[in-house]
Amino acid sequence: MIRLGFDLGGSHVAAGLIELPDQVRAVRSVKLPGQITFTELVARMGRMGRELLGERGCSSENPVEIGVAAPGEMDRATGVIRHAYNLDFHNVPLSRALEAEIPRATVFLINDADAAALAEWKAGVLKNYQTAWLLTLGTGVGGGFIEKGRLFFGGRGFGVEPGHMILDRQGPLCTCGNRGCIETLCSGTWLTQAAETAAIRYPHSRLAAEQKAGRPAGGKQVMECYEAGDAAAATIFERYTEQLGDALVSLIALTDPEAIALGGGISQAGDFLYEALNGYVQKYAFFETAPPILRSRFGNSGGILGAAWATLEEEAEK
Ligand SMILES: [Zn+2]
Repeated sequence: MIRLGFDLGGSHVAAGLIELPDQVRAVRSVKLPGQITFTELVARMGRMGRELLGERGCSSENPVEIGVAAPGEMDRATGVIRHAYNLDFHNVPLSRALEAEIPRATVFLINDADAAALAEWKAGVLKNYQTAWLLTLGTGVGGGFIEKGRLFFGGRGFGVEPGHMILDRQGPLCTCGNRGCIETLCSGTWLTQAAETAAIRYPHSRLAAEQKAGRPAGGKQVMECYEAGDAAAATIFERYTEQLGDALVSLIALTDPEAIALGGGISQAGDFLYEALNGYVQKYAFFETAPPILRSRFGNSGGILGAAWATLEEEAEK
């Protein structure tokens, strides 16, 4: 079977030809304009898909299964995205529209964080676990939960949104309208704002020097400056590991996972991040021993790989 995986983000769409379990061949990534209509997006995805198939010499006679990892709320059975707020799409029939673009295609939809979790569980760092989380730490915070050997979609099919559990009622305003969600305190966006504030407060810090030299504030910069011994970055790093640590401790108390993997840009930081987080959860977790906090294997390609895995899972469910 020929499989394609798509990962639809707020600003990019990526696609790849996938050989399961873990091979991502011929990847394409296209930056999306600030505003794109549904019709334009589908036409673009169709073109990417046809090009990838053509490049690998796949004939249009062959059936192809396509998984699409997308943000927001969706109806997987009908392939409709109900709400994707960052794209401003509401009730769009993505699966059917993409099937019309690519000959002999069957399209399956999956939430992007669920896709990343599926990839790590099927072929990555969560392979040997039956109950585990993947948290994606990016602009926002998403998550997917593997429960006793299957991806958990919730009671009504809406899935899980660990990023919107409330950590601090007095905390920053979240995109969902509440305050102090895990997302507002554990995302890359929090790190970016903390780095910008610290650069003003500590003008002689390495963080400030980096930003003055034109390098953008963000999680990567905080991690690098912390590793280089910058005191301003250390203050942010310590606060961040406490906030993220509290989120992990809460997930552990709620679901008793065997492991938690971290994905997204921040997860690529060095081992010092994992040492700090594992130390924190070991100290504060409800249970006597805490599960390991692990770096994900696939990083940014987890979305397209997991989307391809979703085609198999969905087939099995039918
Ligand atoms: Zn929220």
